[in-house]
Amino acid sequence: MSNTLPIESFPDWSRFIAAVWNHGRSVKNINPELVETHVNAAAESVKDSVIQRNEARSIRPSSFLSCARHAYFFLKGEPAGEMPDEIGSTFAVGHLLHELSYCAVKSGIPAGFKVSTEVAVDLPNWWPKEHDSFTKQGHVDMLIEIEDPEEAKKYLPVAVVERQPKMLIDFKTMGGYGYRKHGKAIFDYDPDGFGYISQLSTYASALGVEEYGAVIAGINRDQLQARLNTRLVDASILKWNINRLQENLKKAIEGEDPGEEFLVRHKSEASFYCGRGGKPGYCPFKDVCRANPKLV
Ligand code: SF4
Repeated sequence: MSNTLPIESFPDWSRFIAAVWNHGRSVKNINPELVETHVNAAAESVKDSVIQRNEARSIRPSSFLSCARHAYFFLKGEPAGEMPDEIGSTFAVGHLLHELSYCAVKSGIPAGFKVSTEVAVDLPNWWPKEHDSFTKQGHVDMLIEIEDPEEAKKYLPVAVVERQPKMLIDFKTMGGYGYRKHGKAIFDYDPDGFGYISQLSTYASALGVEEYGAVIAGINRDQLQARLNTRLVDASILKWNINRLQENLKKAIEGEDPGEEFLVRHKSEASFYCGRGGKPGYCPFKDVCRANPKLV
């Protein structure tokens, strides 16, 4: 007996994935063999999260891309601020929720779709792989490919099946506040301090799927019964960011200080991340940035 998502029409990938995830995570539908595999995978990551520091030691798709000045400071050898010593359990919960989400989607996905998780990818041609400070490889949370278009059309509109045959999905665990903000975010207008769009754009470029858009799927770690908050990021936004990152990284390697790029781009709305206007800030370089004013 199949426990996959019953036939139903969805207007887009975003709502389809959220429905598959919710169906697959039910105790009635989740596949126990997948649970065994993914919970074992999570165990290793959970242990690493709490017994070692998890600061990035290189420029990666997930680190130091949201502001042009990050790569500049990193390459100059400026130390990035450390995360709190107690952050490990937050990462541990994130790893577990990622693996459970992989189980849920793989359990609930109907015939005609292929789901791959933790896909190892070579970074794109424009990524400075030859430079020691840049990571060489990355991992994509999930890629769903349409294998049988006729089956897929039972769930998605014909135009979607034909124009978006693959969908890249990046899961993010979020606190309740971040989860609500993610639901209303206007991508590329609102500040992306934690670099979600930069990461997604880099991976989309690595896989050559930027034409199809990509999904950021927010998991509410404060309210685990909440729906999966899936948002489709349009291809035009991914492409704009790929160009931005290419230019920023090239200039950083040349030693050109871009100044307070993120603050200039987002003005007072960047304060939450940059630590200005009385806000504590999350930017790992906020102190050295403030001590070296250039543009603001
Ligand atoms: S404080 Fe803001 S402008 Fe300065 S490096 Fe950090 S993100 Fe960029």
